Amino acid sequence: MSRRLELHCHSIYSDGTLSPAELVARAVKSAVELLVLTDHDTVSGAAELFAAGSRAGLDVRLGIEINCAGAGAADRVHVLGYGFKPGAPGFAGRLAEFRERRTVRAKLIVEKLRGLGVAIDFEAVSAGAHETLGRPHVADALRRQGVVKTRKEAFERFLMKGKPGYVDSMGPSPAEAISLIRDAGGVACLAHPQTAGKESELDELFRAGLQGVEVRYSGHTPSQVRAYGDWALSRGLLACGGTDFHGPRTGRDARLGVEYEDGAYAVLMERFERCS
Ligand code: AMP
Ligand code: ZN
Ligand code: FE
Ligand code: FE
Repeated sequence: MSRRLELHCHSIYSDGTLSPAELVARAVKSAVELLVLTDHDTVSGAAELFAAGSRAGLDVRLGIEINCAGAGAADRVHVLGYGFKPGAPGFAGRLAEFRERRTVRAKLIVEKLRGLGVAIDFEAVSAGAHETLGRPHVADALRRQGVVKTRKEAFERFLMKGKPGYVDSMGPSPAEAISLIRDAGGVACLAHPQTAGKESELDELFRAGLQGVEVRYSGHTPSQVRAYGDWALSRGLLACGGTDFHGPRTGRDARLGVEYEDGAYAVLMERFERCS
């Protein structure tokens, strides 16, 4: 037997387009049995998530995703956190710092784009955000201005590394992100490992205290699922999975959830229990 779980999705509190309550409704429709909200650098969706989860009778939990920065592969590392205590000392303050740095970065991106003659201002970018800002909000502003048709086009023309509107991430190092989650009592896992580098680079994250890896992911081929599953097994890492759903108009809105065998589900639940 298997069941459908979603351990990686975003709401309007970061760069998704659905509210936590809308995510819960969508999860129920998609036959998802567990929904973990993993907004970037914020837990502000928690109250709405838990209220909607309890109304719908759905198991919902709070997670987080922290996008990192640094030399080499570090700026492609995104760390997912599960089971942490949001009220742990220093935790909320660090997230607020990361969000402030994102605002600084978004302003620099806007300046670069204006330098290229693109008509955009920071107010148009921040108007589309509830809390955490990111390049997707710049992309949405460009779309509203008619400069691009999709987020994807905005990334490919302007916002990706190597493109003229790119500004380096100002996130924490991978080691800092991992420690922040662990120090708050949580489990630190690597999101979409295929973007994070070679096995030697993944092993460096393991040495920095990584505890899990996103084995099942919407973009993974069956052979990638096997390879990351083997890597997780060989290092004793938790195998997590999700789709990185962002909602309508983001290009990332396929059906919520990935399939978990009963054994894998039991391991996951047991690991989450140990956090509480
Ligand atoms: P940032 O956190 O500001 O560096 O922006 C990175 C976020 O942009 C990722 O977490 C994704 O949610 C989103 N993203 C990255 N590439 C694309 C793309 N090609 N199309 C749509 N969204 C993307
Ligand atoms: Zn995102
Ligand atoms: Fe990510
Ligand atoms: Fe994500």
